[in-house]
Amino acid sequence: MSRTPTASPPSLNDRAFHIVTLGCSKNRVDSDGMDHVLRQRGMAGVQRPEDAEVVIVNTCGFLGAARAESIGVIEDLLQDRREGQLVIAAGCLPALGNHVADLPAGVDHVLTTREWYRIGDVVGGLIGAPDVPEVAGCEGMLTTFSRRDAGPSAYVKIADGCDHNCAFCTIPSIKGRQASKRPLHVIQEIVDLVAGGTKEVVLVAQDTIRYGADLGMKHGLPQLLEMIAEQVPNLPWLRMLYIYPSPLTLRMVDVMAEHSALLPYLDMPIQHADKTLLRAMNRPSDVEMTRRLVEHARTKLSDVAMRTTFIVGYPGETDEQFETLLRFVEEMAFDHVGAFTYSPEAGTKAATLPGEVPPEVAAERRNALMEVQQGISLRKNRALVGQRLEVLIEAVGEAEDTAGGIEPISVGRARRHAPEVDGLVFVPGELLVGELMVLEVEDAGPYDLWMVPPQGRQADRPVAAMNAARAARRRTAPRVRSRAATRPERRG
Ligand code: SF4
Repeated sequence: MSRTPTASPPSLNDRAFHIVTLGCSKNRVDSDGMDHVLRQRGMAGVQRPEDAEVVIVNTCGFLGAARAESIGVIEDLLQDRREGQLVIAAGCLPALGNHVADLPAGVDHVLTTREWYRIGDVVGGLIGAPDVPEVAGCEGMLTTFSRRDAGPSAYVKIADGCDHNCAFCTIPSIKGRQASKRPLHVIQEIVDLVAGGTKEVVLVAQDTIRYGADLGMKHGLPQLLEMIAEQVPNLPWLRMLYIYPSPLTLRMVDVMAEHSALLPYLDMPIQHADKTLLRAMNRPSDVEMTRRLVEHARTKLSDVAMRTTFIVGYPGETDEQFETLLRFVEEMAFDHVGAFTYSPEAGTKAATLPGEVPPEVAAERRNALMEVQQGISLRKNRALVGQRLEVLIEAVGEAEDTAGGIEPISVGRARRHAPEVDGLVFVPGELLVGELMVLEVEDAGPYDLWMVPPQGRQADRPVAAMNAARAARRRTAPRVRSRAATRPERRG
């Protein structure tokens, strides 16, 4: 009896993929999720798009400039793509209904920001592989995935979407209402990260303080923080970003004061200091409440570092209103500030407001604000010289010495620096990546700090070998960031 040979169906096994991540920390977490799903399907991540059979661009759609960058990246990939290579557009840009048409022709599939967990099925469908169930019974925020290879610092997205309605913001129309990840899944993800050697977890969401409201939790974030502190006692650093100014912040600060792993770092976007403009932005306009929150944090948390963001040039902003903001910046003396010039986004209420501020005036105001803040940041950083701070070493790069020779230089962050948006710490010599160490501040600029290396640890061979082994184990390139990337204006 003869058998007719049957061709086996196409499979994802060993096919190479590459993910380009644009935009904010929330997108990076989604990219990690897609990476995990594709590896579970047997695919292999590669460092260069030209080596990949499937390239995914996780786009940003928050502002016009971010959309233009996303489109440019996709166009470049399409232009250079090798035969048979698939290009998938994912993320926020495709979620903006009125901008889908802007995506370049030739993209093989479009996946919106809340569908990232479907990436395995999408790629499988494109190459004709049979369906495989994704992570068991999970969707979006309910999806959990292993994070063991994340590196020394990792973002954990605890919620997605936003219930606010800030007049300038497109996020609610891109992402919809807030959906929180269940505490059990958040904790599982953190336990996994810590088991893989991660020392810092950064909790992110559109409005982190509102975490759990959709799950019926009354004080969701403070409760979650207590659960993490109790159930993952071996996590050294836990940080939160994007705390919307609210009375709930008071309770959160109290919980932060009780647990040493919760870093004394408060990132609270305030956007302006003039009540009328804040009302026009649909933001909390009780500036006195904001002052109380800042004071409470400074009283309760010793050495607290505070970060905020402001928008200048909002429609109708007068010289006097900008002066109010400038005086507020001087008075509050935040550690880190990001300032953005307003840009109108189609479909938002702000885009319909009268009183457009000429772009050159908005740019001048931004520069003036940043100049004031740089003086404050420099003064604060110089006050740290001679102090000993705990530092997380994240990468080793190269620096040129005065004689033109190349020396290794270790790059890290102190507790007062959030990843990507604040400054960096530089230490001569090669230190072990992923190590937490206490070092002395030797010099300071407005953003970065220079520290004294620990005695006898520079460039010794065992450290270099261990770093090489760790780098080989990690799937992504070491997170060395350019100095420009640490500037506050990079904040999205
Ligand atoms: S809280 Fe943030 S994400 Fe939500 S609408 Fe306001 S600016 Fe947008």
